[in-house]
Amino acid sequence: MSKNYEENCIFCKIAQGQISSIKVYEDEDILAFLDIDPSSKGHTLVITKEHFANFLMVPRNLLDKAFEVAQKIGQALITTLHAEGINIITNVNEIAGQSVFHFHIHVIPRYSQDGLKLNFSPKQIEKFNLPALANQIKTGL
Ligand code: AMP
Ligand code: ZN
Repeated sequence: MSKNYEENCIFCKIAQGQISSIKVYEDEDILAFLDIDPSSKGHTLVITKEHFANFLMVPRNLLDKAFEVAQKIGQALITTLHAEGINIITNVNEIAGQSVFHFHIHVIPRYSQDGLKLNFSPKQIEKFNLPALANQIKTGL
């Protein structure tokens, strides 16, 4: 079955072997490789081989497969590299920090004193009516 690829997408080129990568895992649908500019030792990216612009665009069966691989890699980072924790991140759109517009999951192992700061502040909850907000979100489900 032919997959959907984008001409100028760097991760499509990696998936097709046109650009090299340091692979950690590969099957028919999913590829995992080391991030070229890692946030910590063992920072791995999990992608669908087929091109989808971001997390919101990926069909459920492929999303399940990608997260299953991300979970396995997270477990392996703990057993093999002795990571003490993991951050799982997938950015959607530029505003959220996405720079490669082909779906990927960051599996970022955490170590004490790794110096990595994931900053979700400032917290703004006091400005929102949370029950009204929840009702609004539910209308979109
Ligand atoms: P994001 O900013 O969430 O889109 O993440 C894109 C990630 O891809 C960054 O962490 C980059 O370091 C990584 N990256 C970009 N090009 C390559 C490449 N050729 N091989 C491996 N990782 C890459
Ligand atoms: Zn792509």
